[in-house]
Amino acid sequence: MALEKKVLEKLAEILENSKYTVVLSGYGMIIESGYPALRDGDISYDIEQKYGYSLEELLHSSFYSTRKELFFDFYRNEILKPLDIPPGKGFQILKEMEDEGLVGQIITRRIFGLPQRAGCKNVINLHGSVYNNHCPHCGKAYPMEYIRDSTKVPLCEVCNTPIKPDIVLFGEQVDNSVITRAAEEVSKADVLLVLGTKLSSALCRQLTGYYEGSKLILITLYPHYSDKLADMVINQRVDDTLEELITYMKKKRND
Ligand SMILES: [Zn+2]
Repeated sequence: MALEKKVLEKLAEILENSKYTVVLSGYGMIIESGYPALRDGDISYDIEQKYGYSLEELLHSSFYSTRKELFFDFYRNEILKPLDIPPGKGFQILKEMEDEGLVGQIITRRIFGLPQRAGCKNVINLHGSVYNNHCPHCGKAYPMEYIRDSTKVPLCEVCNTPIKPDIVLFGEQVDNSVITRAAEEVSKADVLLVLGTKLSSALCRQLTGYYEGSKLILITLYPHYSDKLADMVINQRVDDTLEELITYMKKKRND
C-alpha cells in the first residue's frame, strides 16, 4: 500500500532537515529479509521438539557452558544456516541513505550482521555479531565460517579451548561501553528513526529514553498500543516504506 502523499512529503522533509538521524533497527527488518521468525510460536515449538529445549534455554550462557555439543548443533543449524539469505531491500536502502548522509548511525540488537553485509558503515551491534568469534582463553579470533564448517564443538587451533561466538547470550550482560556509545548516539540525534519494532521492545526501552528531540518516527508493520509514544507512526512494511521514501526524495531532487 502506497503512502499518502502528505505523509511522504512530511517524512522526506523531516529527514532532509535533520542534522543527525539515528536508526534503531528491529526484529521486523530481519523478518522482512526472509530470516526465520525464531520467536514465532510455530518455529519455537519446532525447535523445542527438535532439541528438547526452548530457544531461550538453548541460547542461555549456562547452556553454552554445560552443553556445548548441543549448543553448537543448534547454533549451526538454526542461527548460522539462515546466513545464506542476503540482507533484504530494507538494509540495502539504509546503506543508500547512509551514503547520502540521510542516516548517521544504525543501532541494532540483531546478531546476523545484516546492515554491515548490506554495506552500512556506522553500525552498533548491541548484542554482537555471529561474524565475530574468539577463543576465550588465548583470544584468537575466528571467522563465522570456522564455526559453520565445524562438525563438533569448534576448538581453538592454538590452545584447544572451545570457541565462543561474540554474541550476548541470555544471562549475559551487554558490554557497558557499547550501551554507552549507543546512548550517546541517540542523545545526539535530531531524528530517531525506529524501524521494524515496537516502542515497548527491549531495544527501544533500552535507548529511546536518551532521545531528547521531538521527531521520533516509527515505521513498523504491526500496530501496537505503545505506537502513540512516537511523534509519527507508519504501520507498513519498513522496506517498502523506505523504498518509496528514497524514490520520492531522489525524484524531488532531480525535478
Ligand atoms: Zn585459544
